[in-house]
Amino acid sequence: MRTILKSNRVFASWVITNSCNYRCSYCYNNCSAPVEKWDIDAIISTLSRTGQKWCMGITGGEPFLYPDFINICNQFVKNDITLYIDTNLSIEKKVLEFAETIPASMVENLYISLHIEERERRNEVNKFIDLVNNLQNKSFPLQVNYVLDPRLFHRFEKDFEFFKSAGITLLAKPYKGVYRLRAYPEFYTKKQREIILKSSPDAFRRTLFYPGNVRCDAGRSLVRIAADGTVTRCVGDHTPLGNIYSGLSLMDEATPCKAPFCTCFGWDLIDDEDKKMLIRSALADKIVIKPLLRRYAGYYWRVLKKTLHIV
Ligand code: SF4
Ligand code: SF4
Repeated sequence: MRTILKSNRVFASWVITNSCNYRCSYCYNNCSAPVEKWDIDAIISTLSRTGQKWCMGITGGEPFLYPDFINICNQFVKNDITLYIDTNLSIEKKVLEFAETIPASMVENLYISLHIEERERRNEVNKFIDLVNNLQNKSFPLQVNYVLDPRLFHRFEKDFEFFKSAGITLLAKPYKGVYRLRAYPEFYTKKQREIILKSSPDAFRRTLFYPGNVRCDAGRSLVRIAADGTVTRCVGDHTPLGNIYSGLSLMDEATPCKAPFCTCFGWDLIDDEDKKMLIRSALADKIVIKPLLRRYAGYYWRVLKKTLHIV
């Protein structure tokens, strides 16, 4: 897994659109949301006024659905802003155009997700393999993730071998949610955890943890751009830092996290001593009920938000 934390630039996590053409069974995104409209020139101007070097972490939904997406990537690259893109790789024509147009050297990572059931339903598994190999041949840095939804566990090892024979190494990505009244990733069995770790030794690094109020570098080396242009520290801690159109001020140093739990990049953004302390306190906490209740509460809140269309 490529870390988003680098000392020479700031990472902006940006949901360019919630809209998605896939309907994965384990997804809680509002995929039928309309595509937002962004003023890219204004975004670039705000970023350059900070005097920092930036990496745009463009996520969704499916980013390649955004109109004129390749042109937007080009604008960032021309302004020395590197790219880190989450994608399901489904919009083949645009991905090929991207590969022809954008220099691989300006792409920090293509965070590709293989949604195997959706691929099979569309009869597009071979298309996926060709596209990934094409990107690999052009030296784009990439990783291919496979969400270990408990419903897919029985087939993962077979899929892993199949894609390996096609030149693609799958990274198991733990499922975050509740299935048959069991909260994941906490309820993976020891054997399942071993299988996940075999394909992806860092797999559990970015799963949920409870930061307490440890000092985190989010707000200084990472920001989150919300749909209305508000810039906050991250997806969990909404401390405002400004607006992507009118200006933003980064924090000067790591400061205590205000979120009840971290589901994103926090493990990369807190220092090693705090990590050891968090592991010690998690091990000492014999009562697992509290974190699990939080997990269930988070899950039902996501379902409710999706039902009410407020994501
Ligand atoms: S591709 Fe991603 S955003 Fe789209 S439905 Fe699947 S998990 Fe959700
Ligand atoms: S620990 Fe996680 S939730 Fe807290 S500020 Fe850092 S990235 Fe955000």
